[in-house]
Amino acid sequence: MPPGGRLGPGYLTEEEKKNQPKVTKGLLLRIYSYLKPYRKQMALVLLAILISAVLTLMPSVLTGKIIDEGLIAKNMKALLMFIGLSFGLTLVANLIGILESYLNTWIAQHITFDMRNKMYKHLQTMSQRFFTSNNQGDIITRMTSDISGVQTVITNTLASILSNSITLIVAMVLMFRENWILALVGIAVVPLFAIPTRNAGKRRWVITKDSQACNDEINGILNETLSVSGQLLVKLFGMEEKEYRKYETVNRKMIGLNIKESMAGRWFRMALGTFTNIGPMLIYLIGGLIMMRYDSSVTVGQISVLVALLGKMYMPVNQLLNIQVDWIRSMALFTRIFEYYDMKPEIENAPDAIRPQSVRGEVEFKNVRFYYEPEREILKNISFKLDKGKCIAIVGPSGSGKSTLINLIPRLYDVIDGTVLFDGEDVRKLDLNFLRENIGIVSQETYLFNGTIRENLLYAKPDATEEELIDACKRANIYDFIEKQETGLDTVVGNRGLKLSGGEKQRISIARILLKDPALLIFDEATSALDSISEQKIQDAIEPLIASRTGILIAHRLSTILAADEILVIKDGEITERGTHQELVSAGGVYTQLYETQFSKAAAVSSAPDFSYSEGET
Ligand code: ATP
Repeated sequence: MPPGGRLGPGYLTEEEKKNQPKVTKGLLLRIYSYLKPYRKQMALVLLAILISAVLTLMPSVLTGKIIDEGLIAKNMKALLMFIGLSFGLTLVANLIGILESYLNTWIAQHITFDMRNKMYKHLQTMSQRFFTSNNQGDIITRMTSDISGVQTVITNTLASILSNSITLIVAMVLMFRENWILALVGIAVVPLFAIPTRNAGKRRWVITKDSQACNDEINGILNETLSVSGQLLVKLFGMEEKEYRKYETVNRKMIGLNIKESMAGRWFRMALGTFTNIGPMLIYLIGGLIMMRYDSSVTVGQISVLVALLGKMYMPVNQLLNIQVDWIRSMALFTRIFEYYDMKPEIENAPDAIRPQSVRGEVEFKNVRFYYEPEREILKNISFKLDKGKCIAIVGPSGSGKSTLINLIPRLYDVIDGTVLFDGEDVRKLDLNFLRENIGIVSQETYLFNGTIRENLLYAKPDATEEELIDACKRANIYDFIEKQETGLDTVVGNRGLKLSGGEKQRISIARILLKDPALLIFDEATSALDSISEQKIQDAIEPLIASRTGILIAHRLSTILAADEILVIKDGEITERGTHQELVSAGGVYTQLYETQFSKAAAVSSAPDFSYSEGET
């Protein structure tokens, strides 16, 4: 493993240093709570690590026997026996190593499985605000790389700390058992080889970073000047010589850095080579001195054992010295994940949520105020009532708050002030599932999952029969299209439904709502222009739909507006006018202006006129 493990370079970036997490007892206990269900398996891993550490070191101890009792005593039988034993132990140690890796991976996979599921479930409870205000990439990173990082922590960092510490302790115990003076000499040598390695590694990393930056610069120059349009510019301005000189300068800088980098590696290997040799030499020297001058009971074999054991200490010491970086990163990783777990869902079911037996689909807004950010009020004092079977059309300039208003009904957001009532009950007191089951929204931007038309339809009613699916499609005016497809309802819609046209997507989403059959239908009419035939098809689908149920239409076209019982005109978050089409047209207000400017113009170009307009046009 490279210094610092597999999480990245072995040194913390400035940013990581600044944001070092506070490692508290609480954090450690919380991490442990995820490991706890697997404590039995972990105990087994610990045992495997211990056994394999001891077994891996045993051949070093046997070196002494091979030398003293085999070679020096010229005893072939003992020699063969110890060599065989040494080989056998190494084999068993490696086999246990395999078991250990398997168990380790198994535990890590299961812990990340639990954490991922928990995170996914938790994210599902987060409000619309969370998804609109957080970068989608961040959310996905939390779900994927951060949690995968946990796996690395368990299989690498934790395992490395454990196995290296155990190897070191066992090696030291064995050294002291052989000869305490030589053991002390060996241990005194350890920092000699550990520290230069660390410093050399650090220097190398700095150079690598510089050379990466230099490489980026070179690529930038090549991309700019060797592209078709770049070359044209260079030629037309006669800049060939200047560009060449610029390139040559960076290129020269690059070779300097490359040489430095390779030499940093060389120094590093030299330091390591020198110091790894000094240790054994010192043990030979002092061991020899003791053996020849002071204590003739010290054997050549013993000295060799110490040298061999010292050799086994290099790697663990180095890895443990570098583990600090991994440790800090791991803690930061857990902290980030826990931060997400700790986010409270903004919109939750009330503890005593009501789930009425019957539903009418009536809506009432009472003095509703709403903002996304306090400094900008979006809805100001909105009040209106929608009775069962009636239909309200909302019109108003783009950005006046129409979509925001309807989002308050299924509680995608909660009001800041005032009340939204559904069937006479404050929506905050109703069971969220009940509320959402009974509201169907055909939104402006139709979202279809990547799958077949059938799968998208079944999303609304998983147990729908073939007849029901076909009937819904017919009523949504999309069946003609489906019939023409080779695979019919099993036609794949493509990523987000991109293989379909805007109009087709919208009619599928209408069919989906028909299957859901909600008590209240909300239709957010698309502002984007559709050709008049598609337009008419949607219109034909939506009209019978709203005629038979309670509905709110955010309307951009006159034909939709005419289907409504009442029209609310919203401007700057306020209802400025209300009434029927006839009343509003003759009132001579904003609506009249809209009708005259927008509808008469649109009527000239399309049979299904676009009634949308933007701020400032009124
Ligand atoms: P359109 O007809 O163009 O769809 P609209 O009347 O439906 O417009 P809304 O989508 O309700 O308008 O938006 C009202 C205002 O609220 C806009 O100015 C918009 O910028 C702002 N807004 C919408 N969603 C958010 C959000 N999630 N966070 C902050 N501001 C938002």
